[in-house]
Amino acid sequence: MNISEIRHPKEALYRTICLIVGSLIWLALLLGTYFFILIFLIPIAISLWIAEKFFQVSVYGNAVNVNSKQYPAIDTIAKEFTASLDLKKQPEIFVVNSQGMTNALAIKFLSGKYVLLYSDLVDLLWQKDNKEDQLRFVIAHELAHHAAGHMNFWTNLIMKPAKLIPFLGAAYNRSCELTSDRIAAELVKNQKASIDALIALASGSASLFDLTDKVAFIEQENRVPSGFGFIQEVGSSHPRMTKRVMAVNEYGHSKPAAVRNPNVQAA
Ligand SMILES: [Zn+2]
Repeated sequence: MNISEIRHPKEALYRTICLIVGSLIWLALLLGTYFFILIFLIPIAISLWIAEKFFQVSVYGNAVNVNSKQYPAIDTIAKEFTASLDLKKQPEIFVVNSQGMTNALAIKFLSGKYVLLYSDLVDLLWQKDNKEDQLRFVIAHELAHHAAGHMNFWTNLIMKPAKLIPFLGAAYNRSCELTSDRIAAELVKNQKASIDALIALASGSASLFDLTDKVAFIEQENRVPSGFGFIQEVGSSHPRMTKRVMAVNEYGHSKPAAVRNPNVQAA
């Protein structure tokens, strides 16, 4: 999969701005301190190494590690997408007791890559009557963060000073979410399931799964007070769910019908 072709145009823009601005600030810091600032890389590396060890204590001790023996159905999904995304090594996946929260996270330390799936999210999306495409979308979205370089240590280090500029870091983070949604939709190849997964995250209800109206949900965006919606958005790390659904919907419509609906054979 060629990620650079799928990357959302907003991410391409903000990524370039953050890399250029970050590089310039780093260059000024390096020259201004006669490269002395590099010495801070040592404590950063040591603290990341220690943080990863404590993280491993927590997840291996108190969460459930997904592998070929443990929840092999989830492991199979992760293996398939790891290969499609050309990730060198499959991130370690854990199902975490989330006590009511529905979320999923991609985490990276110096080299170790992880995906945390909150248990309530798995319960919400993994329906017995064969609706695993919704969970596939979430797993694909988190693996996409790893594959698209959103978690890359050196890229993030270079971007770090730029991301401290008010609103720029949040804008970049939001654009990364749109890219990961696009990649996930490409991998799952089921636009309805991709959108259903996002709306299920908004409603938090498994019972209402089949009753959800995509168009009515998208129309809610018209009810968001415009000025306040903008103010709320510029500081947020994630776009509003209505906007994420709109973006996946628009992206899906830019594809041939055979990609939108895997049951339709191309002529
Ligand atoms: Zn994300």
